[in-house]
Amino acid sequence: MAKILCVLYDDPVDGYPKSYARDGLPLVDGYPGGQTLPSPEGIDFIPGQLLGSVSGELGLRSFLEKNGHTLVVTSDKDGADSEFDRELVDADVVISQPFWPAYLTAERIAKAKNLKIAITAGIGSDHVDLQAAIDRGITVTEVTYSNSISVAEHVVMMILSLVRNYIPSYKIVVDGGWNIADAVSRSYDVEGMDVGTVAAGRIGLAVLRRLKPFDMRLHYTDRHRLPAEVEQELGLTFHPTAQDMVPHCDVVTINAPLHPETEGLFDDKLISTMKRGAYLVNTARAKIADRDAIVRALESGQLAGYAGDVWFPQPAPADHPWRTMPHHGMTPHISGSSLSAQTRYAAGTREILESWFAGRPIRDEYLIVDGGQLAGAGSHSYSAGNATTGWNG
Ligand code: NDP
Repeated sequence: MAKILCVLYDDPVDGYPKSYARDGLPLVDGYPGGQTLPSPEGIDFIPGQLLGSVSGELGLRSFLEKNGHTLVVTSDKDGADSEFDRELVDADVVISQPFWPAYLTAERIAKAKNLKIAITAGIGSDHVDLQAAIDRGITVTEVTYSNSISVAEHVVMMILSLVRNYIPSYKIVVDGGWNIADAVSRSYDVEGMDVGTVAAGRIGLAVLRRLKPFDMRLHYTDRHRLPAEVEQELGLTFHPTAQDMVPHCDVVTINAPLHPETEGLFDDKLISTMKRGAYLVNTARAKIADRDAIVRALESGQLAGYAGDVWFPQPAPADHPWRTMPHHGMTPHISGSSLSAQTRYAAGTREILESWFAGRPIRDEYLIVDGGQLAGAGSHSYSAGNATTGWNG
């Protein structure tokens, strides 16, 4: 029987919800491209419930306990005295969400003698030292596609919010004001702008598809080129590298995983090659951008706006400069954790657990590391190595 250690974010400050804004969720048939939705043998939650916080338990408790396993759920994840550190020593399975990542560093992996599988309830396993997992033969999985469309919607929202100057305009209303000139002196239309995505995977391509009807010119860079018919359908311009692409763009959106190849990509040098007054939206991972270079670019006007929902570390400290820099539209890490997304990644986590307990192969599209190497989706999108370092700082 296994011990499952699950790290989730805290419940709402007013307590676990007793009711919800809407009744149920709209039905989604499948993912673009034909991948099927998670298909566990059963679920023990009502779709639309808050599952990603501690009391939601990803809807896993009765399933696990009925099968004789032990489930420990905690939000206390950082530092050597954390419940996560204490419970990790004999855990077989770790489940964590990127929104509230339990950083599985090489040191922690070395202490976790029983650890066999790390499941990301969501997408993005950069909080796991993938090289250490490879070396120890630990399987790493994530629920591919579960929140890709959720994030794409958030990206489009943030692009429109920045370019149209929505947040300062909203604030004028809340503060009792009506100065239209203050609101519009930084407000533009996206129509006719050039927008480029760094990576056109599930999220990046979904962003491009959603921006097409706004009559923006669409650009992308990726390690692999999209099929010619997709490029033609959307009128895409491909650039071999981010360095080639960004000088052409009014808006850049980052949709690549964090791994050694992408860490620190948006530094002073790359940002200086962007158009003055470009907008940058990063819902991928904070460390793809240099924290202080972003602040400097907003202060100098090189960037007209920056938005995203990913920070480093998470939770972001109260004095994180991205909370107070000018012209930002940051949210906490929420884009991939809508109630809609939670339903899918909770079901996907259950599907992975069911397969693993039964000794059945885990879907290839959920695998990041398996059998001592990058595997499945991981061998396509990641590179070996470690992007978890510096998680205290
Ligand atoms: P996908 O795996 O579908 O797409 C990732 C794409 O990035 C792939 O096309 C991959 O290229 C490309 N890529 C990898 N390295 C590079 C590179 N060095 N330069 C250019 N392109 C590169 O993942 P998703 O679209 O679903 O998710 C992308 C990322 O978004 C996740 O890894 C995660 O970090 C983040 N995310 C954030 C969420 C949030 O809540 N904010 C939620 C979900 C994801 P190829 O495969 O062609 O080699």
